[in-house]
Amino acid sequence: MVESEMLEARYTELLAEFYRLRTENECLKQQNRDLLIALSTTAEHGDLVEAQLHTMNVKLEAEIAEREKAEAMLQTLLNIISREKNDLEIIVQTIVEHGDVVDTQWQQKLREAMYLAELDGLTQVANRRKFDHYLSYQWKQMGQQQTPLSVIICDIDYFKQYNDAYGHLMGDACLQQVAKTLQSILKQPGDLFARYGGEEFAAVLPQTEENAAICVAERMQKAIAQLKMPHPGSAVAAHVTLSIGVASTVPSHLRSPTSLLDQADQRLYLAKRKGRNQIIHHWNCD
Ligand code: GH3
Ligand code: MG
Ligand code: MG
Repeated sequence: MVESEMLEARYTELLAEFYRLRTENECLKQQNRDLLIALSTTAEHGDLVEAQLHTMNVKLEAEIAEREKAEAMLQTLLNIISREKNDLEIIVQTIVEHGDVVDTQWQQKLREAMYLAELDGLTQVANRRKFDHYLSYQWKQMGQQQTPLSVIICDIDYFKQYNDAYGHLMGDACLQQVAKTLQSILKQPGDLFARYGGEEFAAVLPQTEENAAICVAERMQKAIAQLKMPHPGSAVAAHVTLSIGVASTVPSHLRSPTSLLDQADQRLYLAKRKGRNQIIHHWNCD
């Protein structure tokens, strides 16, 4: 081969090498550009993420601070409420204790008032009000049990004359003495003795048949006689005496307690008409 041909071949070889290197160079340049882009994108993205994280962090810190503040306020409030609760508990306890005392005092006063409302002021025995209630109550009870119920009504004879002779104050003392004596005659727990009005007294005797009630009336009459209270105005005796009416029945829902009371009252006035100082009952009322 001649030298020119050798140079030509060498030239072609180098040109080919040149193109290959140029292509390779272009390729690397492209790779470099891509890498730069990728790098810049990653950096930008990283910055964004970092910025977002920073913002979120700031927000979170602010929120934490806010929450700590709220927590502290809540704690303060809790302390105040707890103190107020303790104070309230003390107040409520005081009110309850005080209320109990007031309640007990009122109940006591109510009991006293109720007791006084059923008591005769002069003689300190039950009054007419109590008598009426008790008679109605026992009427129902004895009606249910179908057991006899008795009533006794007593009236001091010629009491107007007693007052005329001794004056009202002595008359009052006489009523007190008579009431005390008659009440002491009644022994059964269910018995009730009352001032029926003026110089009249009455007794309710549950579970008592007529004969037993007559015995009680006789003991009453005897007890007053034994007092020997002088009574110059009486046309029947030298001392205070009683006229007495006795009535008994087994209560029925077809009649009222007033029917029993009326019967005893009629017998009392029969005793008056018959001359006073006597007992009228079922067996001697005709
Ligand atoms: P009788 O035998 O018919 O029952 O005649 P009496 O005088 O007892 O009956 P009368 O109804 O005529 O008079 C009752 C008297 O009883 C008149 C009244 O002044 C008196 N009296 C009534 N309540 C009281 C009282 O609380 N104290 C006094 N001292 N007298 C009273
Ligand atoms: Mg009378
Ligand atoms: Mg009288």
